[in-house]
Amino acid sequence: MARTLITNGTVVSPTGRQVIDVLVDGETIAAMYAPGQAAAQGVTADTTIDATDKYVIPGGIDVHTHMELPFGGTFASDTFETGTRAAAWGGVTTIVDMALQRYGENVIEGLAEWHRKADGECAVDYAFHQIVGGVDDESLKAMTYLTENEGVTSFKLFMAYPGVFYSDDGQILRAMQTAAECGATIMMHAENGIAIDVLVQQALARGETDPKYHSLTRPSPLEAEATNRAIVLSHIAGNVPLYIVHMSAGDALEHVAEARHHGRNVFAETCPQYLYMTLEETLAKPGFEGAKWVASPPIRSRDHDPHFIGQMGHGHQGDLWKGLRMNELAVVSTDHCPFCMKDQKELGLGNFSAIPNGMAGVEHRMELIYQGVVAGELSLERWVETCCTTPARMFGMYPKKGIIAPGADGDIVVWDPNSKTKIGINDKHHMNTDHSSWEGYVIDGKVDTVLSRGTVVIENDTYVGRKGHGQFVKRGLSQYLV
Ligand SMILES: [Zn+2]
Repeated sequence: MARTLITNGTVVSPTGRQVIDVLVDGETIAAMYAPGQAAAQGVTADTTIDATDKYVIPGGIDVHTHMELPFGGTFASDTFETGTRAAAWGGVTTIVDMALQRYGENVIEGLAEWHRKADGECAVDYAFHQIVGGVDDESLKAMTYLTENEGVTSFKLFMAYPGVFYSDDGQILRAMQTAAECGATIMMHAENGIAIDVLVQQALARGETDPKYHSLTRPSPLEAEATNRAIVLSHIAGNVPLYIVHMSAGDALEHVAEARHHGRNVFAETCPQYLYMTLEETLAKPGFEGAKWVASPPIRSRDHDPHFIGQMGHGHQGDLWKGLRMNELAVVSTDHCPFCMKDQKELGLGNFSAIPNGMAGVEHRMELIYQGVVAGELSLERWVETCCTTPARMFGMYPKKGIIAPGADGDIVVWDPNSKTKIGINDKHHMNTDHSSWEGYVIDGKVDTVLSRGTVVIENDTYVGRKGHGQFVKRGLSQYLV
């Protein structure tokens, strides 16, 4: 098996940074050496990577992606092949994608379908959460089965999208009770979809059809209310681990912070789009261009939510960055759910509610959150923690994934803080979309070299991996509980 020695780099973990050499033997990290120690001991390697003046970090883990998801009359435009290749370009060596079961479908068959889509296609490793869109006796039994046998230990429910993925409070409580019994985690899309649908119909009746109304009909109090309701139900279900996905609003985050203050197993993630983008600069662009940024929860107004009644004082983005620093938000994921403008987003011309919800991002999360380090919003160590280590611990993959330590998989990113990354459809863009939601962003840092289980997949601005290298990761229970 090939041996690779990464020398003179600064290895970063959630607890610190240190110049140290890393030896990868075959697929795993074999040893780490203080400067000069490897040479003194006569350690040899087939390949040496000089990481002088660079950071050496664990491969990124994106725990929220939707490859090939059927939605809104079309399919998310990245396959597992194209999506995991783009992930590699972004320094992501593991994705956790959302397998799908809808009302009337069988959960175990839904998972089998996701294995068929991904098997033999992936450039980097992958795991699955299971969406349960139809909670009934059969799917509850399947949740326990998947947790105990299939390495799928987290289940996503929706308080939004009535008639598509929606679960009512009784169904949510039953799924939470089942998860509490078998140790699984409940992931929640927390928006009050019943109320949102009323606002959407009223807006359309008034002739308000442009993309910006997607945001204006999903005001943040309806995310906050649903977040709080999910937290209350998780309490009733016996403090079942609850993980709120893609949090976009300061008023929703307050409920998570309060629950955590009370020692509850309540966690949340946010996504780069909520940390950087504003309604004014995206959805509200003239004409139909705003459709590029239609996702749910929506990109929100810069300073306030027009429908929000209360005291905020500062915008959602400030709250979210603070939440990342304070560990109210544990993880940054992307909710990568790509759609092209042509033939896909265009389905919603003249009716914002028919625009497929989602945007592409798996390639850019490490870059965009690193820019938060440059801007002083969070520390280098916290970048690694929220993008690499906590995702592994939260979803039962640690210490195989998420850390640079002997015995861990050789998933490693060499990060160059002295280069820049220019994002754009004619610059850096490897996702299968005809536009970039991040067009024109310039990042002070760059993915230099990426190893996936000991194999170099990105070097010298070239993808050198192959489809089928990525393996399915069977996950254990969450290791991040209070
Ligand atoms: Zn999602």
